[in-house]
Amino acid sequence: MSLLNDRLDALRGPTPAKGHDARTLAALTTNPGCNRRALLDAAGVDKDAIAVHLGKPRPLAESSIALRSGAIFEQQVKADGCAELLRLLRDVLDLPLPEAAHTDLAAVGSQDASLQVRHTYTRHAVLEAARSTDSTRTLLDHPILQLTVAGHPVYLEPDVVAFQIGGVFRIIEIKSFAVVDGQASPAKVAAAVTQAAAYVLALRELLESEGIDGDRVSHDVILITPRNFSRRPTASIVDARKKIAALTRQLDRLTRVEPLLDTLPPHTTFDLALDQDKRPTRDPKELTAALQAATTRYTPACRHFCDLAYVCRGEARDEGLIDVLGSDIRDDLGGVDNIGTALRLADSTRAPAADQADLAAALRHAHAVRTQLRESA
Ligand code: SF4
Repeated sequence: MSLLNDRLDALRGPTPAKGHDARTLAALTTNPGCNRRALLDAAGVDKDAIAVHLGKPRPLAESSIALRSGAIFEQQVKADGCAELLRLLRDVLDLPLPEAAHTDLAAVGSQDASLQVRHTYTRHAVLEAARSTDSTRTLLDHPILQLTVAGHPVYLEPDVVAFQIGGVFRIIEIKSFAVVDGQASPAKVAAAVTQAAAYVLALRELLESEGIDGDRVSHDVILITPRNFSRRPTASIVDARKKIAALTRQLDRLTRVEPLLDTLPPHTTFDLALDQDKRPTRDPKELTAALQAATTRYTPACRHFCDLAYVCRGEARDEGLIDVLGSDIRDDLGGVDNIGTALRLADSTRAPAADQADLAAALRHAHAVRTQLRESA
């Protein structure tokens, strides 16, 4: 492991490894075929700093208005010792919660409220609840969990509450996107459930480290969201098994990056060569060449979860890759991976291969219709 760590340290350079949070862990499952991201994440490289240095930063993923609205909704749900949350759990989900001990781990009774101290308190509270034989229900507000990522422990700071019912822990995720007529954006639900999956794994790791069965953490997570266009919260139970399995696979992959490291030229590094004022001095061309040594799998969805999206999109456009047009078009043009090739098949300046005959006929037809429409306009 230390040899692997040395290789990853060399890839990153002397800056400290950038930690993960539940969002970055969730992003791991979104483009599992991307080797560049797997390498950068395993080495803890600051992808945002690279994108900024190359002049292609990703715009803020969430507006400050959206962030504020999310914080207000969370406060509302957790007000008065999580009174609204308890009402939902009792009434909407029919969960038996006659009494609940609410513990806010943001106020740990210590001057030192660092993540490490809050994690120690969280650990103590979780283990106490797990070993307890009485029927007291436990709501843990602002817990700090820890998960091993690429051999290193990382802190996760859920905006959720873990609680115990009948000896089982559950993860609650509070999100401010609306559920209208029982329907929510599938992409937003998937992202929220994947985040919750990271918390499930971290809580299981905590219990298992003390010889307690990790299955005492339920794979069903509870999503709290506003109902319709009101601020009134509603709760739903979501089966997170697929997301937990996908995240487990990706975390396992991060510890098996040697084959990917072996594909890089010797001495490849993504070091930004910071000067005394912490300004990057690395030649952008050299850095770009280092990045291009690691293969990518750009899709338009990368813009929602990866700081390098605009860097990779620029490369994919320069290479004319079909991937920049989205997965629907990529699937429609199966077997053709370059926009230039598709255009030449469409205008008959390129002869199709034997397995491209049907596709070429469809492209020629589309091209003829488009030409007719342009001429008649
Ligand atoms: S933006 Fe680039 S590095 Fe990030 S996941 Fe997509 S292809 Fe990979």
